[in-house]
Amino acid sequence: MDKKFINDILAAYDIKNLTIATVCSHSSLQIFNGAKKEGFKTLGITIGGREKFYDAFPLGKPDEFIRVESYDEIFSLKEELIERNAIIIPHGSFVEYLGAENFLKLELPTFGNRKVLLWESDRKKEREWLEKAGLTMPKEIKNPKDIDKPVIVKYHGAKGGKGFFIAKTYEEFEERINWNKPFTIQEFVMGTRYYLHYFYSPIQDNAYKLSKGSLQLLSMDRRDETTIDEVQRIGSIKELEEVGIHPTFVVTGNIPIVMRESLLPKVFSMGENVVETSLELFDGVIGSFCLETVVTEDLEFKVFEISARIVAGTNPYISGSPYSELIQPNLSTGRRIAQEIKYAASHNLLEEILS
Ligand code: AMP
Repeated sequence: MDKKFINDILAAYDIKNLTIATVCSHSSLQIFNGAKKEGFKTLGITIGGREKFYDAFPLGKPDEFIRVESYDEIFSLKEELIERNAIIIPHGSFVEYLGAENFLKLELPTFGNRKVLLWESDRKKEREWLEKAGLTMPKEIKNPKDIDKPVIVKYHGAKGGKGFFIAKTYEEFEERINWNKPFTIQEFVMGTRYYLHYFYSPIQDNAYKLSKGSLQLLSMDRRDETTIDEVQRIGSIKELEEVGIHPTFVVTGNIPIVMRESLLPKVFSMGENVVETSLELFDGVIGSFCLETVVTEDLEFKVFEISARIVAGTNPYISGSPYSELIQPNLSTGRRIAQEIKYAASHNLLEEILS
């Protein structure tokens, strides 16, 4: 989407009367709650109807709903949304189900830098970005015949880890692989998982300072994945595999967590390098992003993925996390996004954080 096109739409907005809009799913309760706390109007786009459920959560319910029957229909809402001076907040489900290519075509002001999608949704480019930033990623195994230690096989674009599997030999791999779907093979990294939730502001200097703007760490979580995270309750993986039951990596929820304080400087330097490299490559990963990591027994971080928007792992922290409490009480990622938009609107800087 051409930046000038979006800037022209913004130029016609009544910026004292903005509406925060997103699709009703994923982290929308948190996004609406944060926007309301900052005094914004809120609008929820429901796909096929979900309004009833929001009545149960008045403080997370948007002021208004618009219903469509499919993600593609969101394009037909353009005029209605522009009339309401709407700013779209992308989240994981929104981008995944609309499709990165379609999301790029949305003719509406969206929070963050949409160019990041070109780097994030292509596994090769994602690796180029993160390795250029000096992060260590799990080794990639190009030829399945070279599998000589545990690997994880990931299908491209798999929603919530669906279909991923572990193999220790080529034979195990061959038994499970679906050759019709594109896949990547990665070394399976042993260690503990931490999903780090950052917020990068290119327009405010009141946090961990970068060459332009500043960086915050708002929270971290561990994903709860079925069945791998509970498999040990009925036996070892080996025992189960012998009877044809394989662990899966389907995300069902998120668990709050904190990290040894001595690891935090490393967390910041990783975030710093990711942002600085993104500024060189594509004008920066703006707003919230998440590094998905495994910490090994040598206390080294291996980063297996980046998500360049609000992740569902921030949902345990609607009323703040042990880290965001040290920035401001009751600060969620959803609220931080609303604050950034509010600050930008009042300083005539919206063009810097929207695309
Ligand atoms: P992803 O879709 O890349 O986020 O992967 C889904 C899940 O698979 C993660 O949340 C981890 O639990 C697990 N996983 C992914 N990559 C690795 C890896 N290289 N080593 C160990 N576990 C991994």
